Amino acid sequence: MMSKPLQSLWDDSLANSMSEPELLKYRSNLLGSDLRITNYGGGNTSAKVQMSDPLTGDDVTVLWVKGSGGDLGSIELGGFSTLYMDRLEQLKQKYRGLEYEDEMVALLSHCTFNLNPRAASIDTPLHAYIPHTHVDHMHPDAAIAIACTKDSRALTETIFEGEMGWLPWQRPGYDLGLKLEAMAKSEPHLKGIVLEGHGIFTWGDTSKDCYLNTLTIIQRAADWLAKNNTSAPFGGEKLAQTLSADERRSVAARLMPLVRGKVSSGERKIGHFDDSAEVLQFVNSEQLGPLAALGTSCPDHFLRTKIRPLVIDFDPLAADLESELARCESQLDGQLASYREGYAAYYERCKRDTSPAMRDGNAVIYLIPGVGMLSFAKDKATARIASEFYINAINVMREASGVSEYVGLDEQEAFDIEYWLLEEAKLQRMPKPKSLAGKVAFITGGAGGIGFATASRLLQEGACVVLADIDEASLAERGAQLSEQFSADVVRTVRCDVTDEVSVGQALAVAAVEFGGVDILVSNAGIASAAPIEETSIELWDRNLDILAKGYFLVSREGFKVMKRQSLGGSVIFIASKNGLVASQNASAYCTAKAAEVQLARCVALEGAPIGVRCNVVNPDAVLRGSRIWSGKWKKERADAYNMSEEQLEEHYRQRSLLKLNVFPEDIAEAAYFLASDVSSKSTGNIINVDAGHAPSFTR
Ligand code: NAD
Repeated sequence: MMSKPLQSLWDDSLANSMSEPELLKYRSNLLGSDLRITNYGGGNTSAKVQMSDPLTGDDVTVLWVKGSGGDLGSIELGGFSTLYMDRLEQLKQKYRGLEYEDEMVALLSHCTFNLNPRAASIDTPLHAYIPHTHVDHMHPDAAIAIACTKDSRALTETIFEGEMGWLPWQRPGYDLGLKLEAMAKSEPHLKGIVLEGHGIFTWGDTSKDCYLNTLTIIQRAADWLAKNNTSAPFGGEKLAQTLSADERRSVAARLMPLVRGKVSSGERKIGHFDDSAEVLQFVNSEQLGPLAALGTSCPDHFLRTKIRPLVIDFDPLAADLESELARCESQLDGQLASYREGYAAYYERCKRDTSPAMRDGNAVIYLIPGVGMLSFAKDKATARIASEFYINAINVMREASGVSEYVGLDEQEAFDIEYWLLEEAKLQRMPKPKSLAGKVAFITGGAGGIGFATASRLLQEGACVVLADIDEASLAERGAQLSEQFSADVVRTVRCDVTDEVSVGQALAVAAVEFGGVDILVSNAGIASAAPIEETSIELWDRNLDILAKGYFLVSREGFKVMKRQSLGGSVIFIASKNGLVASQNASAYCTAKAAEVQLARCVALEGAPIGVRCNVVNPDAVLRGSRIWSGKWKKERADAYNMSEEQLEEHYRQRSLLKLNVFPEDIAEAAYFLASDVSSKSTGNIINVDAGHAPSFTR
């Protein structure tokens, strides 16, 4: 579980000059930056600090504790809530018992120190009442493994030789805070407490002591497991790993659009694929079926992953993989439906009078023997994090079942957390999704001027984007720029030559594996060339027709196939040119190819309509800024054709336009966004000219 032991990263030379709140932040960042110590977004830390009351000037004790939301690894001081300890003590008089736990959460805000707007989390009382100055609550896989065994109490005693207390499973809340207090007070020698099925609390007199104690306790658990877990993981290997990494990705690329389509009816989902060693060991093991059925246990895990995954019926050892895939696909509807029925039955069995309505019944995690794990959620980060949490759960199951018997969380307890009114309130407070949330856009020529502007526009509206381009250096640069601006989760780049059938197929497979499919296809990769007709060589002619006509055809044909498999409709957008409608001097090859694009778009619109795939054209004209077409030979050729200098061209085009305006890549991107979004859901086979007005190009 831990290839290298945990090592203290505490640096006294940094820490010595820090205030107590700064030390708490420092400790939290150190703890949260190592996933062996706590999972993403999981765990919390606190310090009880002497401060001056802003109103009275009196010296008061203030609880600084990680607030609701956020992650320890990156928390800033503003991420902590601050509460008067004396008021938190007074709260005890208000507590009416287990059934009234939730009302205590509302009362926490009455204890706020210094008008701090950061909402206090549900775990606040757990930190407040432990009678130690510095407290950590972590979710390390090693300790959760012990907390999730049938005999977790006895194991805790053995491993920690009485230095860690143990409390039976209980939903986090006010009452658990009181139980932690009682145990820590009555057994002052304890260094921490294991919470069954959940995680650990540890403490110290100084921030540094607390940090070191936390590391020591986790390492003790990991060392004990390393020594005592000698059995073959998950009951041993059932399937030898026969599929190569490429084959696994290609199975995932084939299945993901299909699954995505089938689980996106309520809300469109984004996919994530993982075939790390831990995942493969689990999906190829003897105990995959029974352990997956037991479900996850730490609340942090199942809130993200749903209580159980769905194991897809697939035999990677089948002699004929193609027919096995076809068989697997034909079983999918039945498997997905029975998962949903199981979820609805769980909801019916466990619901209470006050429970919120049933949420989406589809699985989040899909395990495929020999292939890996898929996850689907409302956005990429949520899907990725869900899969990381399931890897935590796999680690926990491997260790727990290796030294004892793994125990999943009781169904009713799981339900009460999943449908907790406070969780529901959190969901209700979430901002409305952006207009392209849950959608995947594939943009050819994405490293160029118009492609890049379109990518930025679609990302702003919540889409995930794949930039496909032949120019690898620009791709890397543009991809990094967008990742920096919008997050690495939502941006992918792929080298693609649109004239090459295989390359286009592979690029779309990247969209399928990385995000689950494609909803918006922007065919835009292009070049421009000029030559009088007698000087137009076969080579120049073919180059234009290859990239612009054949390229647009291949991209729409392959994209069409993915959209059809998803059954979620789609929007295909061709960035053509006004030259597709009107002839232009000395550009016969380019104009002909652009006209072919316009006609092809109409054909795609016609054949796409029955499956909800729309296809429309945007015709730019004279987009000089940002476009690399205009930084090459084309600019000189155009200037020569109009008998002027290159510098005069932009003004020439502005004057030539009816509106006397220049056209920029962002203007084309805006039209592409309109056609990509549902606002234009009733438009197909159309052309939007974005050329500042050019009468000969008026469509008719
Ligand atoms: P650009 O040169 O900035 O971008 C085009 C991109 O396509 C480049 O990144 C290039 O590497 C890529 N590309 C070229 N060949 C490729 C191939 N075989 N496979 C994959 N990628 C390839 O140009 P732009 O102005 O952004 O043009 C985008 C589209 O808009 C083109 O189709 C162009 O014809 C059209 N258009 C542009 C203008 C304009 O004035 N800029 C006017 C009308 C139409």
